[in-house]
Parts: sequence; C-alpha cells; structure tokens
Amino acid sequence: MIYKTRSESIELKKMRILNLRMELSERDKRYYYNLRMGYEGEVLFDSMAEKLQCDCLVLNDLLLKVNNSTFQIDSLIITPNSIHLIDIKNYIGDYYYKNNKIYKNPSQEIASPLTQLERSETLLRKWLTEHDFDMPVVSYVIFVNPEFTLYQASPDVPFILPTQNKQYFKQLNSNTTKLTSKHKMLADQLINAHIVESPFSQIPSYEYEKIRKGIYCKDCHSFSLVIDKNFYKCISCNNEEKIESAVLRSVDEFRLLFPERKITTKAVQEWCNIIENSGRVYKILKKNYKTLGKNRWIYFE
Ligand SMILES: [Zn+2]
Repeated sequence: MIYKTRSESIELKKMRILNLRMELSERDKRYYYNLRMGYEGEVLFDSMAEKLQCDCLVLNDLLLKVNNSTFQIDSLIITPNSIHLIDIKNYIGDYYYKNNKIYKNPSQEIASPLTQLERSETLLRKWLTEHDFDMPVVSYVIFVNPEFTLYQASPDVPFILPTQNKQYFKQLNSNTTKLTSKHKMLADQLINAHIVESPFSQIPSYEYEKIRKGIYCKDCHSFSLVIDKNFYKCISCNNEEKIESAVLRSVDEFRLLFPERKITTKAVQEWCNIIENSGRVYKILKKNYKTLGKNRWIYFE
C-alpha cells in the first residue's frame, strides 16, 4: 500500500507559474522541463506501485538527513524481507551504457544515475543504523518511459528497463510474507524524519514588478480572456471558467510566489488585472478567506 503519497513539489509549481509569467533563461527552461519530466515519470511509477497486492509499504518522495548530508529518495518500498530504494528516471530516446556511465546518443555523457544511487544507498544504510534498524537494502534505477532504450547495459547493473517494469512488480507481488509492527515503525520514523523544504532548489530570482499580471486560461494558458457574465471566456480555445474559481486560482499563485505580501482587495485586483470591479474581488475574497483587519486595512488569510 502507498503509505506516503507524492504531490507536486513547491519548486515545480513555482517554476510552472514563472514559466507562464516571465521569460525564463534557456537554462531555467531546461531545469523546468527536467522537473516536469521527472514528476511525470514518478506519477507513472506510482500508477504501477498502487496496484501492488503484496504486504508492503510504499513511501514516496523522502528527503532525509544523516551526518549533515541530505539525500533524496524517489520511492522506498518496505517489504517483509528488504527495503527497496528506487530512483525513477523518465528518460526518452536512445542511450548507451559504458563503464558505469550513461551517454546520450551520440556521445554526450549524462550525470550517472548509478553514482547518485550508490550515494543514496550508503546514506540510507547509515540512517538505518543510526535508528537501530537492521534490514537489507537493495537499490534500483527504474526507467519508466516506454520510449527509452539503453544499449550495452550488462544484466548485473541495477537497472530496471521499461520492458522489465512489469516483471519487477510481479516479483514483488509473489512475496507472501507479512509485515510486522517493526516495519510500520520504520515507515513512521522515516516519515517523521522527512524534511519538507528542499535545499536543492534552483528557482531563479524574480521580482513582483517584472512578473506578468493577469489571469490566464486554465486549459491553453492564454492571457486573452473576456468576461461574459460570471465567466471568463478564452479567446484562443473557447474554454470557460467561473470568475470566482479563476480569481482563486490566481490568488493561490500569488501566495505561492509572494508569501510575504498581504492579500488585499487592491493587491488581488492588481495581480489579476481586474481594474474595473473591486466589489467583485472583495466578495470573492470575503467568501473564501478569513477577513482580518478593519476598514481600509482589511486583508485576507
Ligand atoms: Zn484557452
């Protein structure tokens, strides 16, 4: 069973908004693309892990610290006999394996998933020893994208290729042993030790003044919307969204990008680019948020 679920990281959410509201550098665009691809791969993995029938606990997205070293785990499967440490990769296209390294066609070396895996495994073992758990750890890099091919990989490398994904889960499922309270205790301790804020964040700096204001279409992300009674209508794709839900969606983005700024009617009017109707904005905020302050100092939380 899934014991710790996965959700989109704050980093990915922020990058998605920034990508729509400012011009990202090529490097930031690539970073955003990689974050997105990584998350999509993880979701694909989760859809397979969800179907596991054997007695096991799946913990997704753990960030742990041991001896001042922080390490991230995509998925951890606690089975009765061992702990599976899984690194998920969503690579697409043809790759080559040679001497512990991976190259993207034709000869571009990419950061080795094996080095990363070894590091995580060493640190996880340390973490387990420190917390008095004595269980074997096996680790794998699982490639989930069906459009991924790896040439020349030898069978003893801990890779699970797309054609082997099914077999891997089948094998896990064949285990009929049951978990004990010790396993549950381990899972709970791992969740307690999980660090929420990632120190690896590479979000580019941004300023309120330079960020594009306005509401964009939920479907096609166009900023060309017109108001039709209680709805925003998208000129590009004809999608309709209730004004209230569009405003609230935009306020969520505002809070995420600028947590230090107060949510006031004026701030939201400016952020959403709704110049004409402060009454409507006030009503939406009053209905959905807690009102604090008085008269002209009213703000929402
Ligand atoms: Zn649209």
